[in-house]
Amino acid sequence: MDCRLDGQVAIVTGGSSGLGYACSEQLAAAGAAVVVNYHSHPEPAEDLAASINDKGGRAIAVGGDVSKEADVAELFGETLGAFGAVDILVANSGMQKDAALTEMTLDQWEAVLSVNLTGQFLCAQAAVRQFERQGRRDVSRALGKIICMSSVHQVIPWAGHVNYAASKGGIMMMMQTIAQEVAGKGIRVNSIAPGAIRTAINETETEGEKGEQLLKLIPYGRIGVAEDVGKAAVWLASDQSDYVVGTTIFVDGGMTLYPAFRGNG
Ligand code: NAD
Repeated sequence: MDCRLDGQVAIVTGGSSGLGYACSEQLAAAGAAVVVNYHSHPEPAEDLAASINDKGGRAIAVGGDVSKEADVAELFGETLGAFGAVDILVANSGMQKDAALTEMTLDQWEAVLSVNLTGQFLCAQAAVRQFERQGRRDVSRALGKIICMSSVHQVIPWAGHVNYAASKGGIMMMMQTIAQEVAGKGIRVNSIAPGAIRTAINETETEGEKGEQLLKLIPYGRIGVAEDVGKAAVWLASDQSDYVVGTTIFVDGGMTLYPAFRGNG
């Protein structure tokens, strides 16, 4: 199966750590020029861009807060300045600010919704506008591709994380609605819903005793690695998935099979 992305340009938000890092690396390895967006610390994004360039790829690091419209406009502007087009958006940035419902502050609620949901909305909107503006390019069957980073928590309720679960449930319906709206223009919008993948967002939950407990929720018997998600992103961005529209690919080792029901219920 040939998942090449030669001649294409990808923006990966939150691309300098965890799943975004793996997506950036693997999209670049598949031939795409990659814009590694970072929020506040330029060094890891610049190092990643340098390592992609050293390997013969093309990459730049661009700062910006995805929850701010002006920053998103600048991210796309810098991408066009460097590479002249945008073909792929991986709307990956996300955060957690966990608290029990009765203790959650409005700030915690709004911070998570504004990055996880509004941030993806702003980036998807900017991407669709750009795909339409630039028109058909001879690099892909689609006019453009958007990959939303969701979570198994778009369908699995998560006590103590109401802001996060609400944001991911929102992404599911946002992705499907945008997909329905723009499919006729030749734009494919899909999501990846990771399960438990070991990254900075969940280090305390994936190690030691907590990691052992977590494994009970994963029928396939291992905690995921970022590359599991990067590979799905490359496939969703490539023409190999050209007929895949408005779908969520669960990369979760079977977590959404609800293994607690094995032998019960
Ligand atoms: P991570 O903390 O390494 O990555 C999150 C990235 O988002 C960071 O690079 C961070 O700088 C960036 N970010 C945060 N606020 C931002 C802002 N305002 N503007 C731009 N960027 C911002 O964690 P991760 O696990 O790699 O998470 C990536 C995505 O995957 C998130 O959307 C997360 O919800 C989702 N996810 C992760 C898992 C998992 O198990 N790791 C599971 C399901 C979903």
